[in-house]
Amino acid sequence: MFDVAVVGGGILGICVATWLEGLLEGSIAILDKESSFASHTTTRNTGVVHRPFYLNPGKRRVFARSAQASYHLWREWAECKGLPWKQVGTLEVATEPEQVSALKHYLDWGKANGMDDSELEILDCGEVAEIEPKVRCEAALYCKTDTSVSYAAFAHSLLQDLAARNMSILTNAKVNDLRETDHSVELSLEGWSKPVSAKYLVNCAGGNSLDLAKMMGLANEFIDLHFRGEYWLVEQSFGAKVGRNVYSVPRHREFPFLDPHLIARADGRREIGPNAVLVAGPNTYSGIARGPLELASKILEKPWTPKLKLFSNSDFLSLVSQEWRSSLFVSEMCKRVQRFIPSLKMEQLVSRGLAGVRSNIVDRNGFISETIELGTPCSHHILNYNSPGATGAPAYAAYTVSRLMEKGHLDHLKKKSAITIWNLDFVLDHFRS
Ligand SMILES: Cc1cc2nc3c(=O)[nH]c(=O)nc-3n(C[C@H](O)[C@H](O)[C@H](O)COP(=O)(O)OP(=O)(O)OC[C@H]3O[C@@H](n4cnc5c(N)ncnc54)[C@H](O)[C@@H]3O)c2cc1C
Repeated sequence: MFDVAVVGGGILGICVATWLEGLLEGSIAILDKESSFASHTTTRNTGVVHRPFYLNPGKRRVFARSAQASYHLWREWAECKGLPWKQVGTLEVATEPEQVSALKHYLDWGKANGMDDSELEILDCGEVAEIEPKVRCEAALYCKTDTSVSYAAFAHSLLQDLAARNMSILTNAKVNDLRETDHSVELSLEGWSKPVSAKYLVNCAGGNSLDLAKMMGLANEFIDLHFRGEYWLVEQSFGAKVGRNVYSVPRHREFPFLDPHLIARADGRREIGPNAVLVAGPNTYSGIARGPLELASKILEKPWTPKLKLFSNSDFLSLVSQEWRSSLFVSEMCKRVQRFIPSLKMEQLVSRGLAGVRSNIVDRNGFISETIELGTPCSHHILNYNSPGATGAPAYAAYTVSRLMEKGHLDHLKKKSAITIWNLDFVLDHFRS
């Protein structure tokens, strides 16, 4: 019997396990359904440590603060382990005159979220052309400190650290069912002869976290929709002419459809993407589903009301079809980026990159933007943990673990004299005001 089992070995689960191990004494296990950890969204993303200028400090307070604190934690970790940390900067461009006011909001939000004045600057179209001659726009917000990294490298180095401290790391451990008894949770694992038990369970299963919560009778009012984000590699000769990330102000803020960007990856590659193609499952990296069963179970999944409402919304349907077109035709994807990089040619998009899937929770009122946390006496579930989730993971994990400790859920473990790799007080200060 473990004292705590963390389900999901992505960046969030690994950060949660890191704080648990640093703060508490006891038997802690982290488990993942795959043969290696961090093989899903953690590896399949844009790889940006986002500064929180685009996060509304009121509506997205926890994510904004997580991002603000985590920037410093990731920088420290990258330095300590010699991992990629490339401060490329981001231009957030307004392609239409009416979007310019959004840039001013972003400037204010960045400051309200704790960014330094020197990090952000509004540039007019001439000033943008001086630093990025390929970019056309009305104006842009230049965030100098957005940084390109490899979250896979971060995750694996933290995991190595946990292994060195004797944490139980279980691979090929797919949770198929969960059952809560009086003082513990029993985990049935696919292909394992006996279930595993834990006195407390933390669900960090990414795109599958809703399924796990439902196994415990929670979250029955929600469904999840999965959107595959695809990337295209830009030919090196053209890519080398754009030095920064170029994002455009999103045109449809009510839906999780970011217009594609140009990304300056930490290893020097330039890619465009991601789009947001509706697919049946969280690991559907090609086609519409991984098989007829996955498609059928997604279509038949209950409750019906959130789905019926969304699928009778003509704006949503037209966006879904636009995203599918941009998946099927590279010319469509190219056109979306030509809005701000007009000289990019379809022939310069040489191959597909690694796609990732974003899983969004929906209820009868539509998409939910913030993370959802639910619990039973012996379990805690983190759902809808989306972008910029990789950026915010170390601080968000600290915030979660400290709240679980405050509520007494981890009282069966002994407190350690805080041997954490990061400073807990520094992180929690960000959430206090
Ligand atoms: C296209 C795209 C681009 C993004 N770009 C950025 C970015 O630039 N910057 C940023 O900050 N964020 C970005 N994000 C968001 C970020 O990647 C995610 O928020 C973050 O990776 C989520 O981490 P996670 O640990 O929750 O999920 P995951 O990495 O998906 O980990 C969940 C783990 O749970 C395991 N699991 C699932 N079910 C079970 C089960 N039943 N039993 C056992 N294990 C299970 C899975 O195998 C997986 O390893 C992006 C997301 C997408 C989709």
